[in-house]
Amino acid sequence: MKTRSLKKDKVNIITLGCSKNIVDSEELYSQLKANDFEVDHESDKDDANIVIINTCGFIDNAKEESINTIVRWAEAKQAGEIEKLYVTGCLSQRYMPELQKEIPEVDKYFGTTHLPQLLKTVGADYKHELVGERLITTPSHYAYLKISEGCDRPCSFCAIPIMRGKHVSKSFEQIEAEVKGLVKNGTKELLLIAQDSTFYGLDLYGERKLAELLKRISDINGVDWIRLHYAYPSQFPLEALDVMAERENICKYIDIPLQHVSENMLKIMRRGITRQRTVDLVQTIRERVPGIAIRTTLIAGHPGETQKDFEDLAEFVTQSRFDRLGIFTYSHEEGTHAGTLIDDVPQDVKEERAAAIMEIQQGISAEINKSRVGNEYKVLFDRKEGGYYIGRTEFDSPEVDNEVLVDAKENFVRIGDFATVKIESAEDFDLYGKVIPS
Ligand code: SF4
Repeated sequence: MKTRSLKKDKVNIITLGCSKNIVDSEELYSQLKANDFEVDHESDKDDANIVIINTCGFIDNAKEESINTIVRWAEAKQAGEIEKLYVTGCLSQRYMPELQKEIPEVDKYFGTTHLPQLLKTVGADYKHELVGERLITTPSHYAYLKISEGCDRPCSFCAIPIMRGKHVSKSFEQIEAEVKGLVKNGTKELLLIAQDSTFYGLDLYGERKLAELLKRISDINGVDWIRLHYAYPSQFPLEALDVMAERENICKYIDIPLQHVSENMLKIMRRGITRQRTVDLVQTIRERVPGIAIRTTLIAGHPGETQKDFEDLAEFVTQSRFDRLGIFTYSHEEGTHAGTLIDDVPQDVKEERAAAIMEIQQGISAEINKSRVGNEYKVLFDRKEGGYYIGRTEFDSPEVDNEVLVDAKENFVRIGDFATVKIESAEDFDLYGKVIPS
């Protein structure tokens, strides 16, 4: 057993799951720092005596990873490597009674809205004056900007409303203050995130205000790139597209999870949109924002999905030629509407369908990438790795999309800087090029 009682408490925050969890961990991190705690994020050093795990409870794989992480640190506590272990986030929100019974080594479990209680438990005060002030854990030149919490949508497969509650928009003023704080600390790129970013303002201002929010953020000095994530297709605020088209510092990029396209599946999934309106929306996005890159996410093997539905989806992906695409295999989640249906698509069929869609997408991505050879693009450099400086164009979001690689022997760029790159060659997902001196 390590003796630490004399030394200052040191906290190690472990974040699992999505970008919204990253923002929650950053708020926790900032609050602890402001209370004079030593804090680390995702440290593999074992010098912290308190560990806080911010869990994910979305789908099977994510839940398993969260449970394994809790067990790993529960064992570390039993071995005397740490003194206190706390668990928060979506898995804890969703399964608190079960977790308390199954893994009692955890000192305390917290829900997704219990930051003040968590801070009190570790001996810190919740500092209201810090709201909007956030130390980020991503590279300093980009940051996630959470514009709202929760979701009012009834999607059949989704447990997020169970874990995150109803949709609550942040006010314009709060978001503007947060952006100014981030820009002051060197952030150049803002990734707008929410459960449903297109719902923004409906609860607070009585109407969809995404277009106005984009304008307000775009007007703030020092914001180079604004990137829109988690747009929802139904009742899409088309006026936001005009703001995206007219503003230089709004990336010609949109992440809009469509999940499926067949009439039958859109109904079963309770997506509130038809096949034709989905196809029309994709076309409208491209017409109103020329050159925009569209990222989407799909689900394979949802209950009720027939071979015909799947073939319809595959044809849609082939015809729509999305720039970026991810696909999940359906995960049967209790507490959701789909959780009451029969999970009638065998797991191997789910995986076959997902693989088939990704194969189509790989071909499309290769063709799109090939068409970019010879062009010049503004690239934001994120890191140096394996003899390359690695960055992204405005068509690529961190962690999920394609990258641009320039040889570090022949080029020099500073991490966090923009540079113009001429594309010289392409692979299925990544591009290679050389820096054009400015
Ligand atoms: S929009 Fe649908 S999929 Fe997204 S968080 Fe809300 S309920 Fe879940």
